[in-house]
Amino acid sequence: MKIAIVGGGISGLTTAFYIKQEKPDVKITLFEKQSSLGGKMMTKNIDGFLFEEGSNGFLSNKPDTLELVKESGSEELLLRSSDNARVRFIYKEALHQLPESAKAFLKTPLLSVFGKLRVAGEIFIPAKKDDSDETLQSFGYRRVGKEMTDAFLDPMVAGIFASTPDKISVNSAFPAVVKLEKEYGGLFKGMMKKKKKEAGPGGVLMSFKGGVSAFIASLANSMDIDIKTNSAVDTIEKNGANYDIIIDGKTEEFDRVILSTPAYESAKILRKIDSKLSRMLDDIEYSPISVVGLGYNELSHDLKGFGLLTTSSAKKEVLGVLWDSSIFTDRAPDDKKTLRVMIGGQRSPTLALKSEEELKNIAIKGVEETMGIKELPNISYVKKWKKGIPNYRLGHLERMTKLFEQLKEHKGLYLSSNAYFGVGLNDCVGNSKKVAKKVVSEM
Ligand SMILES: Cc1cc2nc3c(=O)[nH]c(=O)nc-3n(C[C@H](O)[C@H](O)[C@H](O)COP(=O)(O)OP(=O)(O)OC[C@H]3O[C@@H](n4cnc5c(N)ncnc54)[C@H](O)[C@@H]3O)c2cc1C
Repeated sequence: MKIAIVGGGISGLTTAFYIKQEKPDVKITLFEKQSSLGGKMMTKNIDGFLFEEGSNGFLSNKPDTLELVKESGSEELLLRSSDNARVRFIYKEALHQLPESAKAFLKTPLLSVFGKLRVAGEIFIPAKKDDSDETLQSFGYRRVGKEMTDAFLDPMVAGIFASTPDKISVNSAFPAVVKLEKEYGGLFKGMMKKKKKEAGPGGVLMSFKGGVSAFIASLANSMDIDIKTNSAVDTIEKNGANYDIIIDGKTEEFDRVILSTPAYESAKILRKIDSKLSRMLDDIEYSPISVVGLGYNELSHDLKGFGLLTTSSAKKEVLGVLWDSSIFTDRAPDDKKTLRVMIGGQRSPTLALKSEEELKNIAIKGVEETMGIKELPNISYVKKWKKGIPNYRLGHLERMTKLFEQLKEHKGLYLSSNAYFGVGLNDCVGNSKKVAKKVVSEM
């Protein structure tokens, strides 16, 4: 049995790992377009400053990534975020600490007295009767009110999805929250019943010594597969019950193919065998986002915290600033400090695509306006993602049901990536594990 996996991000590698766990004798070839593996998990080391181009880590509130780390023998790489990371800030008209307790919530200037009363009133809001999809904005306005949605949910969705509350489906992007309403009748009721004890937005933020690329290398080394980098798959074609993978006019036949590529790439690769499926994949929207890493040899700001997110109402060009060297101490050499500034997203998509010089200047201006940092960085690094994070817009789940129904037409062909059922690393790992199980069960 010969299996091809296209795409060497976390989804492709996880799918390969779990197929190999169950069927060690299967021959897997993994094709990756770039010269190195990782996709959106890529660390750049510049003079000892570690800049993450995409993902910084994962939350320990779900078991999936932690299990993969342990099963692949990468446990000694695990790096727990420092206690600083528990303190988060929101920039509205000024910088405010995100309240972590009921007492702090009562005191926060982020909401007016009316806004706080409206949040407390959530307990009396009846649950939605039907299962129809709605935007995060509509969900937020209905359950916790406009003020809370604009001050808390808006920056949060910018930080996780690079999206805005009116452009994202709550059912697809935050299924756990929708479940709380459905099962318990409301968010407070649900949270009280579940007695959630974990800190922060759920669990502890974890990463890897030396950055996320260290884990990608360890995961890839843990399995006996054939990895072909600098190999962009152009298209696939049917060959009886099998598939031909075509790269630069060269053809190789496989029994099974798993596409772990972004949806728009999968659309191109599949166009010849199913134009309908290809259109459905192309219809999945992506948000552009740029990441600017700033490294300082000396910085007076103490950076005690995880970082900040801005509200749309603040009208700042930056979506947020992550205080990376405070979260994971090895991200900068001794006594030096590093920040990562996020720009663009659905809030201001054109900003994400500015030139590197302009993005660097926006980042420098952003840290001055939001944090009062006047010092200039000694080092900077810009990563532009034209299509960074899938944006699960209204109706996403319904469209995914149809898309995966259409995929059934093609026995032996599978899709695993962040485009469908979750963008976080835990989702990518959990969903890829499911795809691997399906592949094995259909062998
Ligand atoms: C700026 C940013 C910050 C993020 N921060 C976090 C975070 O802190 N925590 C978190 O949990 N998640 C975060 N995420 C999300 C998370 O990183 C991604 O959802 C996840 O890494 C996606 O993995 P993937 O394997 O599905 O896709 P990708 O990483 O996109 O991998 C797809 C791979 O396919 C390859 N490819 C494309 N076309 C072809 C082709 N034709 N042939 C062969 N190969 C091809 C690509 O080169 C790539 O390596 C972040 C994302 C971004 C962009």
